[in-house]
Amino acid sequence: MDYQRRFVEAIERLKREQRYRSFANLERDAARFPLALWRPAGEEDAPREITVWCSNDYLGMGGHPEVIEASVAAARAHGAGAGGTRNISGTHHPIVTLERELADLHRKEAALVFTSGWISNLAGISTIASLLPDCLILSDALNHNSMIEGVRRSGCEKKIWRHNDVAHLEELLAAEPVERAKLIVFESLYSMDGDFAPVAEIVALAKRYGAMTYIDEVHAVGMYGPRGGGVAERDGQMDEIDVIEGTLAKGFGGLGGYIAGSAALIDAVRSYAPQFIFTSTLPPSVAAAASTAVRLLKASSAERERHQTMARMVKHALRAAGLPVHDNPSHIVPVIVGDAAKCRAASDLLLNRHGIYIQPINYPTVAKGTERLRITPTPRHNEAQVAALVEALVDVWRTLDLPFQEATIVPLRRPGAEAAQCVYPEMKKAAE
Ligand SMILES: *Cc1c(COP(=O)(O)O)cnc(C)c1O
Repeated sequence: MDYQRRFVEAIERLKREQRYRSFANLERDAARFPLALWRPAGEEDAPREITVWCSNDYLGMGGHPEVIEASVAAARAHGAGAGGTRNISGTHHPIVTLERELADLHRKEAALVFTSGWISNLAGISTIASLLPDCLILSDALNHNSMIEGVRRSGCEKKIWRHNDVAHLEELLAAEPVERAKLIVFESLYSMDGDFAPVAEIVALAKRYGAMTYIDEVHAVGMYGPRGGGVAERDGQMDEIDVIEGTLAKGFGGLGGYIAGSAALIDAVRSYAPQFIFTSTLPPSVAAAASTAVRLLKASSAERERHQTMARMVKHALRAAGLPVHDNPSHIVPVIVGDAAKCRAASDLLLNRHGIYIQPINYPTVAKGTERLRITPTPRHNEAQVAALVEALVDVWRTLDLPFQEATIVPLRRPGAEAAQCVYPEMKKAAE
């Protein structure tokens, strides 16, 4: 057996299909986020300053001085690691505090922290469903890979409902006896198109047909709701949802994932999920940073408001320049390229020629023909950076002969120009 040949061939397959991923070697600058240093491959000692436009540290909380301070202080006080699994000496005070903070955020009896959001979905969905006799899982067609893996691992029967189609969900629910255990799993905000789930309608169906609800709020926690509790909080549905899953790695800027729910449910997952039991705990520094970010965002909406303003500003500016922005009501700004090779080329051009980093999103993350650049404005981007982004994208669109949506290109402010010259009222408002 030529083992190495197999791996080389596997990689060649991906390259042929334009699915091979290459990573940008970045050094984020906490104080100057979204600026970072980028080291082009093979040029290890020649870093270039670039602007990151695709970070999932949506609010820039990873660079918040109080969050950093909490992390450093906890590392100094308690050391670099947790020292074990939760059961074997790894249950440290900062992680217990974090779980209380998260339960409070979602107004649930309890919460359980995992090493990532991916693991929390795998563990949460599979454990909950497998503890229910003959459970049927009803899963939205566009659910994240971690949820699909959770459904698979549960070993339960599953039915997929068409994305955000509550009529289809109802059809599937109505076909089952009311007394059969059912778990509806869905996301509150789908991060590739940026569309919201009809949370209240799904909750209403769950109640009518006796189902449990499990919501992934990964792209919403910290960012929606008066205290950052997510879309369910914003929509007044948080108390109606049985299980809320979130990450500490996106809006909260750190690392880790969690579920929140009733005391009995959390205790059961704690006691049965191998993904929780047999792995070491997140270190105190990570837990303390997350607690601080959650606490800050419970008390302040300034970051959320500025985040939404920046997202609206970017969408508006891109549309004005005739760039094909996919319309949605959230903070996600997808710009459709529709071709894998050109999407990769657009991303490379942005980085090499313009110092702007936006990762290409290709199949299988999105459907073929809908390849895109996914832009994530943060409260820490400024108006000059928005103007530079639009100019760079227009140049890339022209270079690659990509289609514009309208012929006219509205002139944009140049970096460094006076705020008064701003052509977009929202930009003016957001300029600080
Ligand atoms: C990123 C993501 C996760 C995984 O969260 P991590 O903390 O990054 O592991 C789960 N669900 C969705 C919808 C995601 O986009």
